Amino acid sequence: MISISELHKSYVTGLNSLHVLKGINLTIEEGEMVSIMGSSGSGKSTLLNVIGLLDAYDTGKYHLNGTLMENMSETKAAWYRNQMIGFVFQSFNLIAFKNAMENVALPLYYQKVGRRKRNKIAMEYLEKVGLADWAHHTPNELSGGQKQRIAIARALISKPKVILADEPTGALDTHTSYEVMELFKEINNAGITVIIVTHEKDISERTKRIIHLKDGLIEKEYKTKLNLSYA
Ligand code: ADP
Ligand code: MG
Repeated sequence: MISISELHKSYVTGLNSLHVLKGINLTIEEGEMVSIMGSSGSGKSTLLNVIGLLDAYDTGKYHLNGTLMENMSETKAAWYRNQMIGFVFQSFNLIAFKNAMENVALPLYYQKVGRRKRNKIAMEYLEKVGLADWAHHTPNELSGGQKQRIAIARALISKPKVILADEPTGALDTHTSYEVMELFKEINNAGITVIIVTHEKDISERTKRIIHLKDGLIEKEYKTKLNLSYA
């Protein structure tokens, strides 16, 4: 599903260039649930943004679903993102003045699905994340865990093949974090590939494979116990 070889990326600001990804080689199969672990500044978000076609890379190769992702126009990148990818962020990125149902329905709004239909589908996804009763509440009336569930429902509504989550539990307490990880596990059990960036060991241990990033390189990777129990 995701195949990356000798991938490099630098950020250039003015005369300065910061080499962030220094030759990444990585394969993630369809249906996997992996975490990308590493300390702050190791390049995790940069790698996830490249995988999610939010940012371009400099050299190397990135194949998504067998297609080489290069020289992308923003239109084409947006098309692949809509077809393939759901995003979840640490800060939820919900729209404050829209209620839970409308937030979940938002991707369908951009796909020009009519209001009645998109709200009906949004309700089905709210049901899936256990929040149907909260449909008419705005984000400021919801707990952190509930907000993240809303964000996950919003990511799922366009039926992505892969979910990319950048520190999705970073703003949550431990108990709520584990509940959100359980939800990701259910999503993965339904066949969706899940990639989670985290700097927390206990979160990464709730995925099936851990990829350790250090200073822009993969330092090591291994399968977890969770993987064995599913084998
Ligand atoms: P992580 O997610 O592992 O904390 P990042 O991928 O966000 O790491 O960042 C890696 C390095 O790249 C850091 O030194 C960061 O400051 C730098 N960086 C990230 N984004 C940008 C950007 N848009 N412009 C310049 N430097 C950036
Ligand atoms: Mg980051």
